Amino acid sequence: MNDLPIDKEEILHELDLIQDEDLKYRDGRILGSMCTEAHPFAKEVYVKFLDSNLGDPGLFRGTKSVEEKTIKIIGRLLNLDEAYGNIVTGGTEANIMAVRAARNHARKYKGIKNGEIILPKSAHFSFKKAADMMNLKIIEADLDENYKIDVNSVKNKITENTIAIVAIAGTTELGLIDPIEELSQIAHENNIYFHVDAAFGGFSIPFLKSIGYDFPEFDFKLEGVSSITVDPHKMGLAPIPAGGIIFRKKEYLEVMAVDSPYLTVKTQSTIVGTRLGASTVATYALLKYFGKSGYSKLADNLMKNTQFLRQSLEEIGYDVIVEPELNIVAFNHPEKSPDDLSEELEKINGWKVSVANCPKAIRIVLMNHVTKTHLKEFISDLKELY
Ligand SMILES: *Cc1c(COP(=O)(O)O)cnc(C)c1O
Repeated sequence: MNDLPIDKEEILHELDLIQDEDLKYRDGRILGSMCTEAHPFAKEVYVKFLDSNLGDPGLFRGTKSVEEKTIKIIGRLLNLDEAYGNIVTGGTEANIMAVRAARNHARKYKGIKNGEIILPKSAHFSFKKAADMMNLKIIEADLDENYKIDVNSVKNKITENTIAIVAIAGTTELGLIDPIEELSQIAHENNIYFHVDAAFGGFSIPFLKSIGYDFPEFDFKLEGVSSITVDPHKMGLAPIPAGGIIFRKKEYLEVMAVDSPYLTVKTQSTIVGTRLGASTVATYALLKYFGKSGYSKLADNLMKNTQFLRQSLEEIGYDVIVEPELNIVAFNHPEKSPDDLSEELEKINGWKVSVANCPKAIRIVLMNHVTKTHLKEFISDLKELY
């Protein structure tokens, strides 16, 4: 550390050089990220609320009321009249809270000590962190031939130690939606906590549905659904960190509450203590700013780009792995391995794609920063590498 203060200008100059090393969403080369550039209006709001700490809501009553309103709005979007929950740092923290609620609930009301959690092989790795922290056993359910959770496999894996079943609305690798209606019924019949991880799909599916896209039910309309994760910092265009966890009942927050002696409130249910109000308020501002019609237009545009990419890939002879349900396309070259192709794409024009594991394929996430022009350039490079 320097002994004497350094001039602001000098520090900013150093930081500019450092920032030059980061890739920029607007260059359109980032093709495998589920995050994107935050909306300019959200950034404006964010800076205003940088000091508000939702960890001490008695001091920041205004900001706390915005969190409550935001949860209610997202809850209604997911067909829940009275929603409970928090805006947290992302899908990971939201999933950890859901698992913790399920674990504590099962411990309190069913006396389960060595809990098991059933989830598909396609589940996000955040559940591994949750299981590790809470000493739970992960029971992996099989996928069917369409890479969705196999309902019978889930049924067969339920035991007296099952504390939760998890399904995904928008898988991380392929953007697919599990058969949530059937699973909700199974969970309900067996009185098991059912969590839907819609971190990716949550800000798309309801809006696409409202303009006529055909999706199966995935939200609180299904009586078995206990909680849903939905990430404003993905298709919601909110600044990171912004994830959402929505619970059907207040008791799921209550079973996680610990005493918080030195604060203005008596208990706290979130994982994080001091926590940012800024991204919550930015999320709220964007919900108002776009409204249903604005978000529907955004989501529709992403789906159009997705179909454009899928068709173009097929035209030039690449194999598209599955028919996309949300804005992710996974494909392969007929001969080259995905890892080799990914390397060549980076060399030819700086493309940053990601490689899915199950199945092995190049995975493109069509986020807002990826325009039709970028896609045309990408297709032309792929043609060259064919
Ligand atoms: C992105 C994602 C997560 C993790 O969210 P973070 O915000 O990166 O913590 C969890 N589940 C699914 C399905 C996701 O797509």
